[in-house]
Amino acid sequence: MSPFVYNGLPMRVVFGAGAVSQLGAEVERLGAKRALLLSTPGRAAMARGIAGGVPVAATFDRAVMHTPLERAEEARGLAKSAGADCCVAVGGGSTIGFGKAIALTSGLPVIAVPTTYSGSEMTTIWGISDKGAKKTGRDPRVLPKAVIYDPQLTLDLPPAVSAASGMNAIAHCVEALYAHDGNPIVSLMAEEGIRALASALPKVVLNGKDLEARSDALYGAWLAGTTISTTSVALHHKLCHVLGGFGLPHAETHSIVLPHAMQYNRDAARGAMQRVARAIDSVDAPRGTWELEQRLGLPLRLADIGMKEGDLERAARIAAEAPYPNPRKVEFEPVLDLLKNAYEGKRP
Ligand code: NAD
Repeated sequence: MSPFVYNGLPMRVVFGAGAVSQLGAEVERLGAKRALLLSTPGRAAMARGIAGGVPVAATFDRAVMHTPLERAEEARGLAKSAGADCCVAVGGGSTIGFGKAIALTSGLPVIAVPTTYSGSEMTTIWGISDKGAKKTGRDPRVLPKAVIYDPQLTLDLPPAVSAASGMNAIAHCVEALYAHDGNPIVSLMAEEGIRALASALPKVVLNGKDLEARSDALYGAWLAGTTISTTSVALHHKLCHVLGGFGLPHAETHSIVLPHAMQYNRDAARGAMQRVARAIDSVDAPRGTWELEQRLGLPLRLADIGMKEGDLERAARIAAEAPYPNPRKVEFEPVLDLLKNAYEGKRP
């Protein structure tokens, strides 16, 4: 056993089909009396529907991906003018991102009810985009005080969104397995998270109403979020942050880049690759991950989700100029090759 540091975060998780009925009790537990209810426009009806027992002071249903600063300021302003004493975020990483943006400047407690597999609800990581660049940071204030995972709320998550979001969660687990500050507990959770997601996602794509598969996928997503809450992310997440700043969709970008980032790190992180391969039941981690995505019907080419070929060099340069710690040295030329492979959707 190698030396390690393990720093757990205070987290409260309520998990299970029907668990959302405890939302009112969780708000009360915080002593809050004026909740700001957050959602995207698409989840607004669901959010109102489950907030029956919650003292809602105001509703903000205009959350969008990547938390644009101007929109976040609107939500912060509403929290203030409504005298909110907590935020209830119902939705995926985009909505939870708005809860975090509010918590970052006000310290308001957040209760998260995740409806995708992004894992944002388990992390202290916030992100705000402004003028084509995404700024991220870690702050304990943004960590939700309670998280309610109810697989019933995910039954309508479209297959394509489910698959991409699930691969986003697997990406968290993969990078936790080779993080420079990883540890054995997180590695256990990461491998188990990949196993749960890789076995559940094909069933979810086949039948979105499969409650057992939905529960397993959400369990994997919880583990995945937990893994990046205490370890650093590496080249893969760096590239996705850069591409997110170019306006590419978050989960799909993660999904497409992941097998290529793994291929980049394959020989520098052999132990991690073995664990991933075992979890997805494949002989080769990067190739097996790519094939899983193919089976899930996910897009495999950055070219298909809005990436411009002319921007590949700029992306590689940004990633190489300020790299995150990574098993293999981050250098411009090989990173550009990685991005070209992802752009063309090459099988690793
Ligand atoms: P999302 O939150 O944008 O959701 C995708 C779409 O699915 C939205 O239109 C939403 O309304 C819809 N949707 C969500 N749940 C649904 C459901 N149950 N049924 C039907 N439709 C549903 O996507 P996401 O991938 O969850 O989140 C992406 C954002 O999260 C990005 O901004 C990303 O940067 C951030 N993120 C942050 C962290 C972190 O730790 N800070 C981690 C992962 C992602």
